[in-house]
Amino acid sequence: MCSKNNYEYYKSHKICVRCGQEDAERNHTLCLQCMMKSREESLKYNRAHKKERQAKNRIRAKKRYYQLKEQGICTSCGKRVSRNNKVLCNQCSARINYRKRQEYLLKVYATKNMCEIRV
Ligand SMILES: [Zn+2]
Ligand SMILES: [Zn+2]
Repeated sequence: MCSKNNYEYYKSHKICVRCGQEDAERNHTLCLQCMMKSREESLKYNRAHKKERQAKNRIRAKKRYYQLKEQGICTSCGKRVSRNNKVLCNQCSARINYRKRQEYLLKVYATKNMCEIRV
């Protein structure tokens, strides 16, 4: 019997298609143990390919950035028109400036004494 036939056979008899020993879980083709194993394996697989995926994402993000920039669209939201020769629209640049300022203030508060702060 080839494995494809096995698969159909086990499936129709509600037996785990992976180990062919245990009963399959309800609405699944695998038993609980095999489900856990396959979950672990896919986690491992994901972890192993994470770097690859990140690199791909980075390339895609870069491409998007340059495309938007060329079209004069905000590279942050990708919706609104960017300001003159800038890569951000008014709203995004205001938001990012605000966040940068908050971060700056937090850093200042964290590293300096209160009496030294001049903002
Ligand atoms: Zn199994
Ligand atoms: Zn924007």
